[in-house]
Amino acid sequence: MQFIFFCLGACIGSYYLCVLDNFPRFFKHKHSCCPYCHQQLKPYHLIPIISFIFLKGRCSFCNKKISWRYPLFEAIWGIIFSICLNYFSFFVAVNILILLAISISDIIHGIIYDILLMLLLLLIICTKEIYLGPSLVILCIGIFLSIGNLIGFGDIKLLAIYGLIFDYQQLAWILFIASFLAILLTKKREIRFAPYLSIAIISILVI
Ligand SMILES: [Zn+2]
Repeated sequence: MQFIFFCLGACIGSYYLCVLDNFPRFFKHKHSCCPYCHQQLKPYHLIPIISFIFLKGRCSFCNKKISWRYPLFEAIWGIIFSICLNYFSFFVAVNILILLAISISDIIHGIIYDILLMLLLLLIICTKEIYLGPSLVILCIGIFLSIGNLIGFGDIKLLAIYGLIFDYQQLAWILFIASFLAILLTKKREIRFAPYLSIAIISILVI
């Protein structure tokens, strides 16, 4: 079972790194391609870690070296996912994985991909009992705050999704922990808030 979890995590990691590296081209073509020759990869090129070993770390079209980040990233995601599933429920483990992806994209590109938020929304709607109240309050206050550029709208959407399952007290804690960490750890004026929100959300989820 542990091996299946590892493979599942590695597949998600592989797909995600591909999206990150080819952003925003990936969303136009919606397929994985070599970052050098842009040839569409065949399904057998996409098996995490194993493809890298069989291709001897080179693209089979242009023979350019494939970054070692790919197998490393895939292995790390596989390990993170299988460890998470050992300690937490499937719901929490998938939340951690998606929040990790959201944090990385916010740090690297400064945005939160809607596809990740949609995944999160789908997971929550399908597995939990939801309440619309807190979400609507967050969206109303958030629209007001994002007009004044006080907070990014991606962060608002992320928080609004968790407003479906958390109560006002838990949401206040999330905002408090995230703001505290952001003030403590960020020296720049422009704060990438999603990583701090993610840490705060995960703490509330596992407590
Ligand atoms: Zn190539």
